[in-house]
Amino acid sequence: MQYVDFSIRQYERLLDAALAGGYEFLTVRDYLLTDENELPERFVIMRHDVDRRAELSYAMANAEAVRGISATHYFRTYTFDGPEARRLVDMGHEVGYHYEDLSKTRGDVDAAHERFAENLEAFRAFVPVDTVCAHGSPLSPQHNASMWEDGPSLESYGLMGEGAYSIDTGRNSTDDLRYISDTGRDWNVEVDGWGTLHSTDGVAEMLEAGGHPHIYVLAHPGRWSHTRRGMAHRIAWDLAAESAKAAVKYPKTVIRTVTRQGGVPGLIPSSGSEESTPAEKPVAEPATAENVLVENAPVEDATESVDAESQTPSDPVTQTAD
Ligand SMILES: [Zn+2]
Repeated sequence: MQYVDFSIRQYERLLDAALAGGYEFLTVRDYLLTDENELPERFVIMRHDVDRRAELSYAMANAEAVRGISATHYFRTYTFDGPEARRLVDMGHEVGYHYEDLSKTRGDVDAAHERFAENLEAFRAFVPVDTVCAHGSPLSPQHNASMWEDGPSLESYGLMGEGAYSIDTGRNSTDDLRYISDTGRDWNVEVDGWGTLHSTDGVAEMLEAGGHPHIYVLAHPGRWSHTRRGMAHRIAWDLAAESAKAAVKYPKTVIRTVTRQGGVPGLIPSSGSEESTPAEKPVAEPATAENVLVENAPVEDATESVDAESQTPSDPVTQTAD
């Protein structure tokens, strides 16, 4: 097998490098719950937005669990499977809702809240959900996190935070928390003394040396692959989504709330929630509780003309483990 920089093997390398560099791993929930002065000296918050290909999320979850690492996995209604989610929680992971209710209701905030509540309840039939994170639908003008500007708050749903908006990142943030994302398969992160890092190899080397103490990683399982063939397919898929996203301008959004004790209250700049992601090709729904999720029916998504899936190549490749 030829070398692939965004493969599950490389992901494992990233984890091992961070452990070797003395980092502790935190879920989003862990981070929000921990007082600033109680945080580990070096830590990585590991978040996954599971836009498609839940099986790759499970592969990452396994890779994490065997290393004693807990991460946060945010599932869309598309990718959520109750028993599998329960299995992840039993492995020590946090599971959350990767919501897109405002885009699905075409900007109707009241309907979005209603849909959000129903989906949250469906998730919670299987797993505790303490945090949620907005999905960035590439062709929809509704920024999903805008639903928090009016109406019920996150707290009113018993939620402690939002995976992107409740965490302050950047050089001026409380923790100098450095956010890095695999978007476009380019980490593109600047670290003092390391320049700008693009490859997984580069980020792994930086972590192994403890190059920056506080890191927030967003890794989309759907962008990683077991095989080179799968990777070629992923890239074609992503290019279609990226070009679709480029045509859409999102409004700037800020929402209230930071719930981490000791954190800075107030409005939080957004970072990194604009992940461009085509929806998964509709498939026959298994007879699971997944079916109770609102609007998980293939027919609705297939008819939504603004959805990215109409713009992207089909995805028939069956991935094989190497
Ligand atoms: Zn997403």
